[in-house]
Amino acid sequence: MTAILLPVGFAGAARPESWPRTRAALRPERLESGLDVLAGVGPSLRSKLARLGLRTVRDLLEHRPRDYQRPLGETPIARLRPEEEAAVSGVVRSATARRARRRLTIFKAIVEDASGGVTATWFNQPWLESKLTPGTRVRLRGTLRKHEFNVKSYDLGDAAATADLAPVYPASEELPAPRLRALVERALDHVGDVADAVPASLKETESLPLRRDAFVAVHAPRSLEEAERGRARLAFDELLVLQLGIARHVQARDTAAAPALGPPGELVSRYRGALPFRLTEHQERAIADLDGDLARSVPMQRLLQGDVGSGKTVVALYALLRAVEEGRQGALMAPTETLAEQHFLTVESLCAELGVRCVLLTSSAGTDEARSAIASGDAHIAVGTHALIQEDVDFADLAVAVVDEQHRFGVEQRQALVSARSPHTLHMTATPIPRTLALTVYGDLAVSEIAKPPATRKPIVTAWVNAERSSQAYKRLRRHLDAGRQAYVVCPLIEESETSVARAAEAEAERLRRGELRGYQVGLLHGRLRPADRRDLMARFKARELDVLVATTVIEVGVDVPNATIMIVQEADRFGLATLHQLRGRVGRGAEQSYCLLVSRPREELTDAAVERLEALVATTDGFELAERDLELRGEGQLLGTRQSGLSDLKFTRLRADRRLLERAREAARALVDVDGPLSDEVEAKFAETEVAA
Ligand code: ADP
Ligand code: MG
Repeated sequence: MTAILLPVGFAGAARPESWPRTRAALRPERLESGLDVLAGVGPSLRSKLARLGLRTVRDLLEHRPRDYQRPLGETPIARLRPEEEAAVSGVVRSATARRARRRLTIFKAIVEDASGGVTATWFNQPWLESKLTPGTRVRLRGTLRKHEFNVKSYDLGDAAATADLAPVYPASEELPAPRLRALVERALDHVGDVADAVPASLKETESLPLRRDAFVAVHAPRSLEEAERGRARLAFDELLVLQLGIARHVQARDTAAAPALGPPGELVSRYRGALPFRLTEHQERAIADLDGDLARSVPMQRLLQGDVGSGKTVVALYALLRAVEEGRQGALMAPTETLAEQHFLTVESLCAELGVRCVLLTSSAGTDEARSAIASGDAHIAVGTHALIQEDVDFADLAVAVVDEQHRFGVEQRQALVSARSPHTLHMTATPIPRTLALTVYGDLAVSEIAKPPATRKPIVTAWVNAERSSQAYKRLRRHLDAGRQAYVVCPLIEESETSVARAAEAEAERLRRGELRGYQVGLLHGRLRPADRRDLMARFKARELDVLVATTVIEVGVDVPNATIMIVQEADRFGLATLHQLRGRVGRGAEQSYCLLVSRPREELTDAAVERLEALVATTDGFELAERDLELRGEGQLLGTRQSGLSDLKFTRLRADRRLLERAREAARALVDVDGPLSDEVEAKFAETEVAA
């Protein structure tokens, strides 16, 4: 029996594989203690928060402020001027809470200082009623509007003044900053539950504050220095966990063994012959790298980095076939069902020609038959999602595993499954991180890079279109369709577990069918689709039975239809840079000139960060350049797709600024691993708790 050894030495790999799997840390339900525990969080607010990726108390604590308000001198109440931000302090005289509408509670308090009084208003913070009793001293920061002082942040009683340094969270239209701030404040009530995994001695030598104090410092700092110290502590933890994983991996690797494969044989040479193109120099180089690795009995741990559409899949299949020609098996694992299905379509058609048998195994496809084929060795190559690494999947003789889009696997899924043998593993990522960072973040993974796409490729022409002129974008799209090409229209519907998404997607597709895309065959692809329907839809699009695919971001990775030459992205400002780049990579996969039209509201209505993202996309198609830019802009808004930017597990770390911290974490990790041999149980258990409680 062989199980896939999942990577440990890559960005976000949270824990060494040998950490105990039995403890609380491995009960995901405890990681996900919902936000209902916070006062005032009902279903509607909960779903808004979910759309920002905030589902648990921990998510709120880990929601890093983008910035802090700067202090303002105090203004006497009598001298407040309308529409001007100001700070006042005084005493509460009387207070009332009133339910204005079903979802709106307004809390009002009359606050007085020596100069006069004003009605201060808070929205949707009903719990204030018990706190703002008459006689309470308050310090408020906000704006006078229509004779009332709208409070943005506040301090109560004699507590240290923090209102002036109130955190500014990534803005969102649905959830105004003060509202979010109030929620984080609620979450801070639970900060006592935060476990602290770093040994006391290390905290001392690195002069790190307690982890729970660090959260308080980040969200309610008394000074900017304090906020930064808190952030650095949390960043240190992230980096330490990462580096411990790498350090342990180095240890584990020295003992693990994989089958050493012979030189490339007849099967892969037939494979080369069957390809409709010549491999590029970069692909050849990557292949040479992995041939070198496969010849050794040390399990390969190689990262194949290459931009969207650079031709990684071809290289991956080569690696899998190397296993097959030795009479062993290969496995290709993808983070989503859609992607796994796409890969299967590609792999299967090529393999059929070569007489190689493939199976698909996801949670909804394959199942028993596939499992037994994998166990008996009848299946040479298994393509699937993490269903492939479930305990009931036994490979007869797995020699090579490929993990696509590795950063998108969740922590639980990335948990290594250790067994006596570990296959050679190739990790692929289309989210290139700057070279200088790759080694520190990926640690001991060897890196191969496909730095240039096939030469036949023309760079995608990208334009930014004002929504008011979107009809022209569609006109252009129709011209492509009339010329026998295909197209994508991407809508910014969020892939949450809501059936309403399916309905909204349906409605949008219907609107287009009746309007801009009347007379064309339009298919709708979204994450709520039944797997069989989705496979059917993709097959029809590939077969050109459909002209246009209207899709949510599920097409972000893997979809490979070279005849699709134009894409319209609606409300493009709502997507993250990495996502947009990935989306764009769905076109420009053939020899034809391709286009990507990014439609958004007028520039004046967008945030600066959105403008910069769209400008960056128009300016370059180079994924490396965009990745650099993404790092700079990261944190500027909790956008769709930032979760997928590959480095998003590092919430408090600023990769560029924290180089020093990273070095320290690396040193500390090495010392911990060296000194204790295997990490002491105590430290391991503590780290396991961090996962849960933090
Ligand atoms: P990636 O996985 O890196 O995004 P793919 O492997 O899916 O990219 O390749 C993108 C497209 O380019 C596919 O249609 C593939 O068949 C094609 N392709 C791959 N290698 C070459 C090459 N050397 N010459 C021409 N086309 C290629
Ligand atoms: Mg790919």
